[in-house]
Amino acid sequence: MDWKAVYGDFSDLPKSEQHSLFQAIKDTLFPEPKEDIANMVGEIREVRFSSGLACVHCGSVNIKRNGKYRSRQRYICKDCGKSFNDMTASPISGTHHPHKWLKYFQMMVDGVTLPKIAEKLEIHVSTAFYWRHKILIALRSIGFSTLKGIIESDETYFLESNKGKKSVTHRKPRKRCGKAKKRGISKEQISVVVAHDRNGNVLSKVAGRGRITAD
Ligand SMILES: [Zn+2]
Repeated sequence: MDWKAVYGDFSDLPKSEQHSLFQAIKDTLFPEPKEDIANMVGEIREVRFSSGLACVHCGSVNIKRNGKYRSRQRYICKDCGKSFNDMTASPISGTHHPHKWLKYFQMMVDGVTLPKIAEKLEIHVSTAFYWRHKILIALRSIGFSTLKGIIESDETYFLESNKGKKSVTHRKPRKRCGKAKKRGISKEQISVVVAHDRNGNVLSKVAGRGRITAD
C-alpha cells in the first residue's frame, strides 16, 4: 500500500474524522516538544523550594537527591524516610499527561467547557472535572482569596440543603426547596459571608449556622 491509496480513502471520511487523522499524523511526525514541560518543572521547583529544599511530608531540610524517575529528580528525606519529587503534592503530581496541563490551564482560563476541553485534549470528562478541582483547590491553598485595602462585606442566608444525600438524619427532609420551620433567621439557615475589595477580589465563605456573629 502506498500513500496515494491511503490518501484516496481520506476524502471519504467526514470532516471531523479528517481533522482527527491529521492531528494524529501530526503528533506522530512532530512529537510535541517537551521543552515546555522541562521549563514548567523548573519553575515549579523554583517557586516551591525558593527558601531551600524541604521534605514535603514532614518539612525536614535533611534531604538528599535520590536518583531520577521519568526525568524527574527524586529526593529522599533522611528524617521520615519518605521520598518525593519536584511535583509531589502539587496538582500535577501523578498525572500521566503533564504536557496536557498547560493547555488545560489555558482553556480553563478562556472559559472553555469541560466536555470541549476533554475532547480537545483527548482525556475523559471525569478527568477534566477532577483536574479542575485540583486546580481550584491549589489556588485556594495559596491564598488567592485574601482581600486588601478597603473591604465591603455583607452576609446572606440559605436554607440548609442536603440535596444528594441518601438520608437526612438530623431533621425532617423537605420537599423541593420547602420553607424553614421557624420564621426569620434560625439555625436552619446557613450563613454565607461575601466580601470584596476595591481590586475586585471576591471572597465568599460559609460562616456557620444562624445569625452571624462579629467573629
Ligand atoms: Zn520528611
